[in-house]
Amino acid sequence: MRSILCDILSAVLPRRCSACGTPLDAKERFWCISCAFIWTRHVQPGLLRFEGRLNWAHSWSWLNLRNPEEKALVHDLKYGGNPLLGVELGRAMAMEWLEERTLGQTMHSEWSLVPVPLHPRRQRKRGYNQSMQLALGWSQCTDMTIAPLCIRSEAGRSFTRYNRSQRVARGNNPFSWNESASPLTPSTQGLIIIDDVVTTGSTLESMHGALRSQWPGPLAFVTLADAAR
Ligand SMILES: [Zn+2]
Repeated sequence: MRSILCDILSAVLPRRCSACGTPLDAKERFWCISCAFIWTRHVQPGLLRFEGRLNWAHSWSWLNLRNPEEKALVHDLKYGGNPLLGVELGRAMAMEWLEERTLGQTMHSEWSLVPVPLHPRRQRKRGYNQSMQLALGWSQCTDMTIAPLCIRSEAGRSFTRYNRSQRVARGNNPFSWNESASPLTPSTQGLIIIDDVVTTGSTLESMHGALRSQWPGPLAFVTLADAAR
């Protein structure tokens, strides 16, 4: 019933680009071709913000999050109520990552993707977790499995009055190992945390801590965008 309604609505209402808002043509699914051309790719090493700490095996971010269209895209991913946008973005970023991978990276399908969880209350309100949607798209292109190995146990609001090093020092990690997740197979070679935006790196640092409590092997991260200035 819902899909019939969606079909009727999509036939009547013009679909719009999630980045610039212009109407899409029949071949464009979530963003227009012009936007895909102007998005700026992130080229700085994302690891710099960690100053050599945490021993990441790999990191990669797709977009720079500088221009208004990129910001609108991320806003739509989080709040637009369209979980399929996240899947499509996950596919688009994975395709570019795979192209770069031929330059020497050796990661393949025996790595598992760990989406950054939302607080359950926020996820209920939003209806989906955008990091999980990105992971779904990414896994379709790479054959990596999705391993929801972390849960978020606190809303995180109480953390905002502390800076990153204070939070880490407090050992007050909002993420913890998901005891009910399926155990990793012996063939698992590494874990890749996947998130929408990295800013200070504190979320990734907390995720690293939660995974490291149970996983001694390589840890990496990929994000849709890097918002560092
Ligand atoms: Zn556009």
